[in-house]
Amino acid sequence: MVVRVGINGFGTIGKRVADAVARQTDLRLVGVTKTRPSFEARTARQRGYPLYLTGDGKAEEFAAAGIPIAGTLSDLLGQVDVIVDCAPDKVGRENVRLYEAANVPAIFQGGEKADVAEVSFSALANYPRAKGKRRVRVVSCNTTGLARAASVLAPRYGIEHWEATIVRRAADPSETRKGPINGILPTFKLPSHHGPDVRTIFPDLPIATTAVVVPTTLMHVHVNHVRFARPPASTTELVDAFRASPRFHVFDEWEHVEGTPQVMEYARDRGQPRPDVMENVLWANGIKVEGGDAYFFQAIHQESIVVPENVDAIRAMFGLAPDAATSILRTDESLGIPRP
Ligand code: NAD
Repeated sequence: MVVRVGINGFGTIGKRVADAVARQTDLRLVGVTKTRPSFEARTARQRGYPLYLTGDGKAEEFAAAGIPIAGTLSDLLGQVDVIVDCAPDKVGRENVRLYEAANVPAIFQGGEKADVAEVSFSALANYPRAKGKRRVRVVSCNTTGLARAASVLAPRYGIEHWEATIVRRAADPSETRKGPINGILPTFKLPSHHGPDVRTIFPDLPIATTAVVVPTTLMHVHVNHVRFARPPASTTELVDAFRASPRFHVFDEWEHVEGTPQVMEYARDRGQPRPDVMENVLWANGIKVEGGDAYFFQAIHQESIVVPENVDAIRAMFGLAPDAATSILRTDESLGIPRP
């Protein structure tokens, strides 16, 4: 069975999900949408992705730019088995009625509230729960990072208490109008929304989160302190537990990765189709077990971490793989994410 996929919104997340879908043998990318002509619309065309109008888009603007349009969102909805909504925050909710009217199942992103969907999704944590669902939400970049870490830690060691401070990048690299460019902004919602968002996947997880925004575009960094019920015997055991999981990359001290700039340089060097890092990034010397407590940093590449999750979410909804491990392996091999 090949599932036909449309992508509504070809921005930071949508263009990456489109490229990822196009690489799967059990999925077929039918088309993508744009609201107005841009270099990204031209990229879609160059890649051979049929382009459809969405939102308040005007056909004459595309005609003036010389970019052919295959139709409108409703034409695209008529040809797909599932639509992946990659519209800006909160717009996904407005799009629900369009998807329902066309009777097309949909995947939403983390900028939507959890109740937009029947289930919030993270492949390592709750893959089977998406089976047969009509609306699935792939959680945000930060929540995906925390949920993956919880998938490694909770079953092995039992979590009694977890505090995470989310050091958030101010904007994506292409968002030139956002800031701050000089300042650290506390998020005055205490605790921050990230903890409750992780609990949409792990309902009983005793996690409390706070957040600050810093002037960088590269990645988020999470500063974690976890208290375990059954702690690992050593720091090495915990490092190895992260290393053994798909979608984790642990740098060694000798690699001299001082922070997020070197992580992104590593991404450029390793030569995947995009210089992205879809894994949770940890440092072996940034993980420490002390008695029943553990400390670890993890860096999250906000532009790409949710991309493999979207592919797995489609497989999970349509039962295209027997289990999470099979889907994750298939996705990761196709995207060049190294195996543990
Ligand atoms: P973006 O602004 O880069 O892209 C959104 C795209 O949707 C744009 O191409 C825009 O033209 C298009 N669009 C506008 N109105 C539309 C409409 N009515 N219908 C369909 N498309 C429309 O945004 P993004 O960063 O890709 O975010 C998309 C979703 O992914 C949001 O829910 C966001 O919270 C989530 N997300 C973003 C990141 C990130 O760091 N960028 C990480 C994880 C999840």
